Parts: sequence; structure tokens; C-alpha cells
Amino acid sequence: MKNAHSTLDKKSDLTILGLLVPYLWPKGRIDLKGRVLIAFFFLTISKIINVYMPILYKESIDLLGLSSEALTWLSLPVLIILAYGAARLGAQVFNELKDIITAKVEHYAMREVALDTFKHIHKLSLRFHLDRKMGGLSRTIERGVKGIETVLRFSVFNIIPGLFEMLFVSIVLWVMYDISYVIIIFLTLFSYIFATIQMTTWRITFVRQMFSSENDSNTKAIDSLLNYETVKYFGNEDHETERYDVGLRTYAHAAIKGKQSLSALNITQGLIISVGLVALMLMAAFDVRNGLMTVGDFVLVNTYLIQLYLPLNILGFAYREIKLSLTNMEEMFDLLDVPHEITDSKDPLPFSSKDACVTFENVSFDYNPDRAILKNISFEVPSGKTCAIVGSSGAGKSTISRLLFRFYDITKGAIKLDGIDIRDMSQKDLRHAIGMVPQDTVLFNDTIYYNIAYGNPKAPKEAVLEAARLAKIHDFIETLPQGYETMVGERGLKLSGGEKQRVAIARTLLKRPAIFLFDEATSALDTQTEKEIQKSIKAVSANHTTLIIAHRLSTVIDADQIIVLDHGEIIERGTHTDLLKAKGLYAKMWKKQLEGGEIV
Ligand code: ATP
Repeated sequence: MKNAHSTLDKKSDLTILGLLVPYLWPKGRIDLKGRVLIAFFFLTISKIINVYMPILYKESIDLLGLSSEALTWLSLPVLIILAYGAARLGAQVFNELKDIITAKVEHYAMREVALDTFKHIHKLSLRFHLDRKMGGLSRTIERGVKGIETVLRFSVFNIIPGLFEMLFVSIVLWVMYDISYVIIIFLTLFSYIFATIQMTTWRITFVRQMFSSENDSNTKAIDSLLNYETVKYFGNEDHETERYDVGLRTYAHAAIKGKQSLSALNITQGLIISVGLVALMLMAAFDVRNGLMTVGDFVLVNTYLIQLYLPLNILGFAYREIKLSLTNMEEMFDLLDVPHEITDSKDPLPFSSKDACVTFENVSFDYNPDRAILKNISFEVPSGKTCAIVGSSGAGKSTISRLLFRFYDITKGAIKLDGIDIRDMSQKDLRHAIGMVPQDTVLFNDTIYYNIAYGNPKAPKEAVLEAARLAKIHDFIETLPQGYETMVGERGLKLSGGEKQRVAIARTLLKRPAIFLFDEATSALDTQTEKEIQKSIKAVSANHTTLIIAHRLSTVIDADQIIVLDHGEIIERGTHTDLLKAKGLYAKMWKKQLEGGEIV
């Protein structure tokens, strides 16, 4: 599970294309299916005209070949030439119509795949997300969707029309002349396609080398410029230039190879087409001499071969792009195959507690089987009471909050809300009931207002401002030139740690959940602000079940119950006074913080 991605089977190109079919022929979307059919109809008309055009061309040549007396105005090839022009235009118009009609299907498919993947990624567990780089995931979707676009573009604009055209041309040649013409044209095109694919596969190595060395030298250049001062401290300009040049040299080497191999490909393609053309022309020339063909027929046969191979000019490029796109699509579809670690039970019990009672019953948990994190933890927070969890760093305090939120499932025991195991209720109901202020607050790159309102996007403005007041951030926001409309920057980095925490508190207060969970929620604040917020938190969370994870013990004195956690075990529990009397770890920690000036 840890690296589910790499353990998935490799999909064949056809399987990947097959996965795309339901998006291109979507269930219940008669309109889109209709579009696909109409597009095929337009494509057929456009190709029939395309194949008919050279026949008109042939007719006019044959007419021009007659003696001048035989050419009257009407029999002049003028009409045929006009028809030729009209056909040319017609083929183009139908081709464009086909593109217009398919655009909607194409974009529907791209949007649906992106949405499905996005929804799926949101359902994947925290474990999966911690194992992956965020940027990597969004790039996988972006590249996958681009891949679909490329594959569709080449197949709709290039490959499928090309196949249609080949089919019609062979029918015409067979009917009008002899099967040997069809055979020669097919042999030529087959050799052309075969050689192109083989040589392109060989060329891909150089092209990849070009991309990777270009990337490499760019990264090195940026890194060295970012470290401008360090480079100067050590006088290492020459060293940096040499490192940069390694990438440039590899690029140049690969680019030269790339160019040489492209020329080799072009020459091979040219050779195959020339041989094919010469063979056709020789055959046609004999037939003309034997009176089996006219000069027009001679031109017609050549025109067909040229007409068929011209779109194949970009075959090498198209093949490379499609191959790359299929790899990117596979990565995206693989994401869709990653199973969900946390799933709702088939028949979740309804749950809508206003004041929930939280119970941990003999809970054991590990992130990896080789290291136990929580060992047989049992405690209860009765409805409306406050429980604080304290202990040394790494003892497993935040883990308790993650388990209550069901980011992970426990290995043993049960966690219950109002007597219902959290695995038996829906994740939506569970998470709706809990308001979490996490240890590290990350904000959306939007306005302060947006970030507070996130707690309840439907809340009226007054409620948002009220939450900000309770979290003691309203006055600060008012002093900002743009007030609530101030952008907080990427991950909220334009706000100080304390301001971010207060925004996080405000948005949780706005959510008004049944259970409050504060994980070191006020650790980034100065003592004075902390005291003020504590007062607000107390006011809002009064009569609400509250779990506080805290480092600074002064913030938990009033808790109804304090649990002291050490190496994943509860070693003491009781009220502040009880624990001081017990003279255990809590009393020791209290003394230390008192001496350290953390408690004032
Ligand atoms: P602190 O006060 O420093 O926040 P804590 O008591 O909240 O500490 P937890 O975050 O619960 O500690 O972590 C408990 C232990 O679990 C730590 O030793 C930590 O290294 C480990 N741990 C936390 N998250 C993971 C994870 N995703 N995978 C593996 N181990 C983890």
C-alpha cells in the first residue's frame, strides 16, 4: 500500500485507450453519443469527396488530351475544374464540421477524467498523501489530461481520417483498375509506417536525453543563481560554470544525434515513397502504352499515393507524442486504481450528535507495524466536558486527534462517539461533528475572509466577523489596508504564525461543531493573546465536548480531566490539582515550565 503506484501492473496501450472509451461514449448522454455518430458521418462524406477529387482531376486531364476540335465549350474541362474546386471546398468544410462536432465530446472526456481523478485523490488516505509530493500529483493529472487531448487530436485529426481515406482509395483503385495497384500502394504505406515507428522508437532515446539534459542544466543554473552569495563566498564561479556546461554538452551531443537520426528517418521515408511511386508509375506507364489506361489514369494513381502519404509526414512526431501521452495517461489511470484505505461501512449508522461523548477503548495503533505508537489507550470525555492530553514530544498526542478524525484506522480497540464506533458511521457525519484546530495551520491562497468563511461557506457575513472577533483577529484585520479582502499568500505565508492560528480558530468557531479538538492551537501566540483566546475558546466551547492537546500546561489547568501520555501509554490522569499532588511526570513538567518562565 505504501507505494501502491509502483506495484500496479503495467497497462498495455490498448488497455489505456480502452479506459478512455466510457468517457467518449458516456452512459446516459445521448447528445454526446449523437455527436460521435454525426462526426463519423461528416468524416465519411469529407473523405469520399477527398477520394473523388483526383477522379475529377483525371477527367479534366483526359478531356484536355483530346484534339482541340473535339473540345466544345460544354465539353471543356471548365465544368469539371469548377466541380473540382467545389469538391475541394466541400471536403474541407465537412472536415471542419467534424472537428466542431467532436470538440464537445473531447472536452467532456478531458473534464470528466480530471474530475474523477481529483475526487478520487481527495478520498485517498492521509498516509497516501504523506507519501507523495503534492506538486507531483497535480502534475500527473495535468499531464494525463493533456495526454488525452494529444491522443484524441492525433486520432481524430490524423489517424482515423487517414484509415478512412486508405479504405476508400483501395475500393476505388480496385474497382477502376487492378488489385496490383492496391497492393503496391499498401506495401508502400505499410513499409513507410513500419520504418517510421521502428526508427522513431530508436530516436526517442535521443529526444529524452535532450529533454533531461536541458532540465538538468536549467536546474543547475537556477540553483547556482539562487546561491549567488554562497558561490561568491567560496569563489566557485568556474566550478559552477563547469557544472552548467556538463548539461549543455550532453544536450548538444543528444541534439546532434537527434538531428542525424531525424535525417536518417527522412531519407528512409523518402526512399520508400520514391520506390513506391516509381513502381506505380512504371506499371501505369505500361498500362497506358497498352491502351488499358489513359494519361489521366496515370496521374490519378500517383495522386492517390501522394495524397495518402502526405498526412503521414508527421507520423514520426505523432507516434512519439502518442507514446508519451499514453504513458502520462497510464500514470493518471493508475491513480484511479489506488484503493481507498478508509472507507465507509456499507450501511453507516445515522449520527447527528449535538454534544458527543468521546470514548477510546483499549486503542492501539501504529503507522508501520514495526513501531507501536499508541498502546492500549482508554479514556472517556463525557458530553460537554473538557479533556486535555499532555506529554512529551512524540508521545502520540497528535496521533490521537488524527485517529478521532479517522485519518487512519486503529489496529486494536474502538473509538466511539455517543457509543457508536466511528467506523460504523459515515466519514461525512463524523467529520461534520468535529472542529479541528491543527498544530500547523495551512491556509488557502485566497483572502482572509475566504479562509475564515471556509468553516461554513454558507454562513452570513456577520457570523464570519463574529467568529473573527471571538478568535481575537478582527481588530488586526481591520488595521490591514485591504481588511478582510487581504490575500494571505501561498499556504498563508504572508501572515505570522500567531495570525494564522487565530484564522484557524475563527474558522473552526464558525463551524460550530459538537466536539472541539485543539492541537497546540495557541502555541504560536504570546501569553497575553493566548489568555484572551483561551477565554473566547472557553466561552464558545462551553458545554461542548472538548479535547485539548497542549504543550504549555497553563492552558489546561481548568480541564475536567488531564491525561498524561508517555511513549504511547497513559501514565497519569486526573485534574490539575490531583496530578500536582501525585508528584509524577505532570508535576515535574509543571515545575520545569514554571522555572522556565513558560507559566506566568
Ligand atoms: P508533538 O508534541 O511533538 O507534536 P505528539 O505527541 O503530537 O508530538 P505525534 O505527532 O502523535 O506526537 O507522533 C507520535 C509518533 O509517531 C512520533 O514518534 C512520530 O515520529 C510518529 N509519526 C507521526 N506521524 C507519522 C507517520 N505519518 N508515519 C510514521 N510515523 C509517524
